[in-house]
Amino acid sequence: MSSLVDRWSQSMMNNYGTPPIALVRGDGAVVTDETGKEYVDFLGGIAVNALGHAHPAVVAAVTEQISQLGHVSNLYVAEPCVALAELLLALAGRAGRVVFGNSGAEANEAAFKLSRLTGRTHVVATHGAFHGRTMGALALTGQPAKAEPFRPLPGDVTHVEFGSLAALDAAVSDRTAMIILEPIQGENGVVVPPAGYLAGAREIATRHGALLVLDEVQTGIGRTGHWFHHQSEGVEPDVITLAKGLGGGLPLGACIAFGPAAELFTPGSHGTTFGGNPVACAAGLAVVRTIAGEGLLDHVKRVGEQLRRGLENHPLVDHVRGAGLLLGVVLREPVAKEWVAALAGQGFLVNAPQPDVIRLAPPLIISAEQADALITAVEGIQ
Ligand code: PMP
Repeated sequence: MSSLVDRWSQSMMNNYGTPPIALVRGDGAVVTDETGKEYVDFLGGIAVNALGHAHPAVVAAVTEQISQLGHVSNLYVAEPCVALAELLLALAGRAGRVVFGNSGAEANEAAFKLSRLTGRTHVVATHGAFHGRTMGALALTGQPAKAEPFRPLPGDVTHVEFGSLAALDAAVSDRTAMIILEPIQGENGVVVPPAGYLAGAREIATRHGALLVLDEVQTGIGRTGHWFHHQSEGVEPDVITLAKGLGGGLPLGACIAFGPAAELFTPGSHGTTFGGNPVACAAGLAVVRTIAGEGLLDHVKRVGEQLRRGLENHPLVDHVRGAGLLLGVVLREPVAKEWVAALAGQGFLVNAPQPDVIRLAPPLIISAEQADALITAVEGIQ
């Protein structure tokens, strides 16, 4: 029988490049390919599988929910969706409202639309940012190679240097509807802005009456050792967007608006058939409750530090950046692709968002032993 990758080449659009591996099973932080080879998954489906694969809490929640009440139209409400919205607001510690969607791009589309209801249209985003691939989210994304073939893109968007408050200050005016930022730029190679950047952005947004929207799709839901990364800086955004880890592997995004911004959408403003599906929300509830119940935020900080310390000693590693379990290993040479292949050979999945950066975003349940095993494998790379 032909391999999955052969069948893929005949049936699926090649929009991600040829896949090197076809996965057939996952258990915790370990995945198995079609030849039976096992890998420790240091990407977690790229920051998605917060609890790893087949976590009993997620399996039970999803099974129970779909047995009891699967999809409902958005004409009606269902318990898991309301409960998840309540829980997310409690974790944020502020009054607000949630609108669910199916992905990070959709969460950002919701924020983009919501910002228009301020009566303003101008948006300030950052170079290197990644906010998704739908046309609106792509207009916010600050990676020209991804956007260029698809112009004209919607909106009046100014991109400025990430991390520079002077650049932000110069671009934002009283006609700006929103500033949108990632607290840490994940797809750009885990780029961390200078301390005080988010607080400075908050001040600039407030001064001009613009919304501060933080895209926490990659950094949120415990990834950096905080429920939401902005909490580590004590900043209060008007809107946050979430996806990835929130659904623990099911498609689930959320746009959460606080204070007056929470009242901008009114009946008819926005909607989606599947967004906030009860089964996806039941998975989200299981993810959040398990992170809280098992003290995973502290675990994330501990194992993140262990990885950082273990990896930064390698002679080819310049430094390790990021927070918690969102780490960028910056190499002295642009050999990240070779490292990805070498580590896959030894049974570890990582990726290279930049030619000189290896990204780690494992399930939050990754063990100290699995982290040590990666460090040992990296030590063996010459
Ligand atoms: N925002 C950020 C910060 C992301 O990292 C991503 C995905 N890499 C997205 C938005 C888009 O999410 P999705 O792929 O679910 O549309």
